[in-house]
Amino acid sequence: MARQSHEPDVQDIPGRRSCVRTDSEFAFELRVCQWAEREWSPAREDSVVLVARQLGTKYRRWDTLVLECDPDGLARRGAFGLDAFDSDALHVLRHAPAEWTFYRDALPDPDYPWRYVRESIHELADRDAVETRKRGRRIELRRRRPYPDWCRRLVAIENKPDLTASAARDLAGQLERDVALGLADEVWVATEATGERVEPILLADFPPEAGVLTLDTTGDAEPVWEPRSLAADAPGTRILERPDDDSSAARFDYADPAWKAEKRRAIAERAYERGWRSYADTMRPDCRHFELRGDETGVSPYCAAKGYIPTQSECRGGCDSFAPEPPAWRTKGWPIEGGPGAAIKRLLARRRRERRPGSE
Ligand code: SF4
Repeated sequence: MARQSHEPDVQDIPGRRSCVRTDSEFAFELRVCQWAEREWSPAREDSVVLVARQLGTKYRRWDTLVLECDPDGLARRGAFGLDAFDSDALHVLRHAPAEWTFYRDALPDPDYPWRYVRESIHELADRDAVETRKRGRRIELRRRRPYPDWCRRLVAIENKPDLTASAARDLAGQLERDVALGLADEVWVATEATGERVEPILLADFPPEAGVLTLDTTGDAEPVWEPRSLAADAPGTRILERPDDDSSAARFDYADPAWKAEKRRAIAERAYERGWRSYADTMRPDCRHFELRGDETGVSPYCAAKGYIPTQSECRGGCDSFAPEPPAWRTKGWPIEGGPGAAIKRLLARRRRERRPGSE
């Protein structure tokens, strides 16, 4: 139970099944993220891969996101720090001039009030992303460095380890919406491999543009249906409502390429900040039963009391087996940095930073 060093050990798991409950979508999702980080083949060989989870738009949240990035652009993005920029901040950053200019002359008209633009300018100045000065009553700005186009492709993966018939029907509708909108460059479904000659998921009524990936319990994945690239730069269609019967009309909305580009940039920013290891922020690594365990497939959270990877919803202060780490853990070998729980968070944050060159 005693933990000796200032960084937690990642413990070896003798058998993968000892750690993975195949009925936990969260555990499966981590396996998909680990596999994608290790093995994803980007469309361009010189792209580097970032993986994130549980991100999307107001209307649609994807389980896993794979970003294929320009390595030089990613390093230049890193110079802005790890925190994400939202859409309003990106509007300023992308148009910030090299020379001092009155902000209203430098920036395109926003489709929202200018006072929000001024707020974004001040927030960016606080982050040292732009410089500002006052000329009389006018705010002028200039950029510190150009904001790069760093994300080349956005790939969305929906994780369904246990694909029942009704889950397949729901998923088919979601995938149709994803394909029609074309916000991601590719959409995939990942499911548990069954070992059957024809994977049952291939019999589901999914749009042919969606790829299918099967994962086995050792963390290896096989694409069993290749996706088609979606037209992310072209106009898309938002399917707002699709009735089950033919008696009423479906409702659609048009998504113009500028809207899509803005959403893609904002999603990429959030993925850059969060990655997929941020589960420690909402779980209880400060519980004495919380561990990080690793095997050939990667590192996962593990509950020593329950004997498996706990879900994020059960690993909370209200958990019946929650036991806060003893104060002694925080005062002896852990004088300033906090106890093992804080060290686990630091370890995961460091792993995230390692994939983001140029960031502090
Ligand atoms: S006992 Fe509960 S709170 Fe503690 S690690 Fe396990 S699931 Fe998380």
